[in-house]
Amino acid sequence: MTKYDYDLFVIGAGSGGVRAARLAAQLGKKVAVAEEDRPGGTCVLRGCVPKKFMVYASEVPEQIDYARGFGWDAQAGSFDWNAFRDRNQAELTRLSQIYSANLVKAGVEIVNAHAAFADAHTLVLTTKSGGQRRVTADTILIAVGGWPFLPQHCPGVAEHGLTSNDMFLLPELPKTMAIVGGGYIAVEFAGIMHGLGVDVTLLYRGQKILRGFDDEVRDHLSNEMTLRGVKIHTECDPVKLHLDEKGRTVVTLNTGGTATFDKVLYASGRKPKTEGLNLDALGIKPDVHGAVPVDPFSRTEVENVYAIGDVTNRANLTPVAIREAIAFVETVYKANPTAYDHENIPTAVFSQPQIGTVGLTEAEAVEKGIEFDVYTTRFKPMKTSFVGGNSRIFMKLIVERKSDVVIGVHMVGGDAGEIIQLAGIAVKAKLTKAQWDATCAVHPTAAEELVTLKDKRA
Ligand code: FAD
Repeated sequence: MTKYDYDLFVIGAGSGGVRAARLAAQLGKKVAVAEEDRPGGTCVLRGCVPKKFMVYASEVPEQIDYARGFGWDAQAGSFDWNAFRDRNQAELTRLSQIYSANLVKAGVEIVNAHAAFADAHTLVLTTKSGGQRRVTADTILIAVGGWPFLPQHCPGVAEHGLTSNDMFLLPELPKTMAIVGGGYIAVEFAGIMHGLGVDVTLLYRGQKILRGFDDEVRDHLSNEMTLRGVKIHTECDPVKLHLDEKGRTVVTLNTGGTATFDKVLYASGRKPKTEGLNLDALGIKPDVHGAVPVDPFSRTEVENVYAIGDVTNRANLTPVAIREAIAFVETVYKANPTAYDHENIPTAVFSQPQIGTVGLTEAEAVEKGIEFDVYTTRFKPMKTSFVGGNSRIFMKLIVERKSDVVIGVHMVGGDAGEIIQLAGIAVKAKLTKAQWDATCAVHPTAAEELVTLKDKRA
């Protein structure tokens, strides 16, 4: 035992903080975690998990269309938002309780309070009722995650704009909705709300949605979303929001004119949640994005203070926060310095249709000066051919010419999230295109196309 109250104090019981706290406690360390909300963090309470349930709910009408195409006398009926929302929240409460129980079982003390630094070894814990106490710890781990932010430049946004946090608790489903933003959260909610019967318009100030993704993926998804009925307006940005006499939100656009919606969701960005942490007490300066700078071992410039997960803005995904937590415990408590490798992280966008992607985009390969070949295919899935419709799956492999290694895999289509998990193993293992091709196809599937792509793009 050290001279401090705790060996490790973790700030934030989200994806990263919970894993780090549990693993350290299982090694016999005296560990506490401060959480100002409920254990579970963004992923469980206002991110991946409730969103995925919404995706499932919103896909049902399409499945009913398919059912009719396959001969079923199926009717969509009506959707009870209130019943769904309350069941979704009840499930999150159950999961949050499991997180708490697992922490306690591992011997972690949970403190329901906001934590702020007094110095490098001392935290001030403030409860909701205003009670304060100080604790000391040998090592402190910042795992406070991120938070959506509303742009400042647009009057009325703070009063009338919703964030992704609000989407899970809507008192009722709007009939019309504008979604401002072009990132993965914007396109996911566009698909969800459209599937639930809301008339959705996506407003994005850039030229193409999903900046950072492969260009062909961006184009393909945009076409597919439009085909399904989502209206996408690019190079279009609200400059003002106000309410009309019926309480609807009137959006004044940079392109001139106004448009009126029941609700406006701002999915235009997230920020590391460093406000109120008093990082000044440590002399730590967040970077331009508000993130806590760390070295490859997640150590800040203060020797005993580490940071993991979204607050470091490296790759803002749950499994990444968890891997960084595991690497932190290896480094600090197992004498095994481990830097989590952020290359080739497979990821899914739960848009409709889904995106799965791992490795380099074509633009990144060009930027790195790599010589490569591209293999692409676009085809109608069997299910769609049978029932009718124009939706197509898109797949793309990027292959380094000199080594034949597959350096990028991109897919838009049903189950892309599931498929890319396995493609991710092959890309991480640096398998060659010849090895992909030597793998026997699974027939009849969409995924078999990935091992039968023959023609290089000219
Ligand atoms: P968090 O999970 O955010 O946890 C931080 C915790 O710290 C919070 O519980 C917070 O209350 C607490 N906290 C903050 N400040 C303090 C303080 N000063 N004192 C005490 N407690 C504090 N990722 C995926 O991998 N797949 C997805 O499909 C996916 N979908 C998403 C959908 C949405 C709408 C959003 C918003 C995010 C999504 N993410 C997804 C991202 C994922 O949720 C995050 O990457 C992940 O939760 C980050 O974990 P973390 O441990 O860094 O922080």
